[in-house]
Amino acid sequence: MELLPAAPPSLPAAYATDERLAIRDLAREFAMREVLPVANELDPVQGLIPDRIRNQMADMGFFGILIPERYGGLGLGLFEYCLVTEELARAWMSVASLIARGNGLGGGFSESQREALLPRVARGEWLGAFALSEPDAGSDIASIRTRAERDGDGWVINGQKMWCTFADQADFLIIVARTTPYDPSNRHAGIRNFYVPKERGSFPPGVTGNPIRKIGYHGWKTWELSFNDLRVPAEALLGQERPSTDATTGFRNVSRGLSSARVHTAARSIGLARGALEDSINYVQQRKQFDRPIGEFQAIRFKIAKMAAEIESCRALMYQVASDADAGLPVDAQASMVKYLASEMSERVTSEALQIHGGAGYTTDFPIERYWRDARLTKIFEGTSEIQLRIISDRYLPR
Ligand SMILES: Cc1cc2nc3c(=O)[nH]c(=O)nc-3n(C[C@H](O)[C@H](O)[C@H](O)COP(=O)(O)OP(=O)(O)OC[C@H]3O[C@@H](n4cnc5c(N)ncnc54)[C@H](O)[C@@H]3O)c2cc1C
Repeated sequence: MELLPAAPPSLPAAYATDERLAIRDLAREFAMREVLPVANELDPVQGLIPDRIRNQMADMGFFGILIPERYGGLGLGLFEYCLVTEELARAWMSVASLIARGNGLGGGFSESQREALLPRVARGEWLGAFALSEPDAGSDIASIRTRAERDGDGWVINGQKMWCTFADQADFLIIVARTTPYDPSNRHAGIRNFYVPKERGSFPPGVTGNPIRKIGYHGWKTWELSFNDLRVPAEALLGQERPSTDATTGFRNVSRGLSSARVHTAARSIGLARGALEDSINYVQQRKQFDRPIGEFQAIRFKIAKMAAEIESCRALMYQVASDADAGLPVDAQASMVKYLASEMSERVTSEALQIHGGAGYTTDFPIERYWRDARLTKIFEGTSEIQLRIISDRYLPR
């Protein structure tokens, strides 16, 4: 009896199209052939994702999946974005996250900004980093204090950011800052995004950074940044050509971007869990104890069954939420649900996979420990599990 499906999970008939199957299979082939061996080699030594991988992703159009065709992107939807993401995360979550440096830029760009930026992003020439979190503003993003003040024609930015992944290697930063002083009675007002180009591999004058020592999510660095009189031109303010009549528009743009990012994070979680399941299925057929493959013990078989069932249920919800989002339906609460369920599932499943591998699972000789460390992060970034529960409960029990 063959336990491991030779092919990736089949797409439900309601969602399957030739185009979707083609891009999913392309991503899987690339992930298993090119990304997985590199991840196995570089993650244990905290090496950086090689440019070769980035260039191959650019050639396949992966940085422009969500970018409309008129700007040179693939013009596809969140559904296809999640299909590709799951495949990449199955090999290395950091690579599955790299595609968000093109696709996940967030809203608020004016037409002239889109025309200048998006074709380069879609070609993978320019990738960005997102500086939202601060030392004292994580879950509570409305409490950010980084300040952008008018100075002649431009702006001067001062403040501190935390956790800015890829800040050094990025070609531009998206900095979330306040254009008006913090007002406790109107905390969401004045929050805007600034687009700040930079040289890849360094920080511009006015920006200094320190890398944060992480336990996972290797392949790139995550930075604490300080802005000291960072001067940017007037056009750095996103959406400048359509000034907002509502002072909280900037905050809503940030929040809307987070909703797609949460579905993307569910896809990353599911990819990690699938890697753990596939590797476990292989392992239990080879590893023998008590003169039998451990896959013959019911305790192990039931673990595999529960892992598979949990992954399938999260994937089904992800397909539904992504599909609804692509149809233009509001999915804020559903995005939080799938992010919450998939990331919690991913930690459980990768931990069970480590258990199935016994002592071998606790070594860096097998990728299981990487899946587990990276899965742990999915419960924290893009809004913690507790914050997702808060969003969902507010939907059911309005305050
Ligand atoms: C490796 C890594 C990479 C990251 N990359 C980026 C990036 O590129 N750009 C970026 O801007 N950010 C990034 N982040 C930041 C990430 O989004 C934040 O860490 C996350 O939002 C949580 O914020 P915090 O760490 O400040 O935790 P806190 O907000 O201080 O939370 C601490 C604990 O309190 C809980 N808590 C907080 N408020 C509530 C509440 N109201 N109800 C119940 N519980 C609550 C939280 O759930 C958590 O358990 C990254 C983080 C990590 C770890």
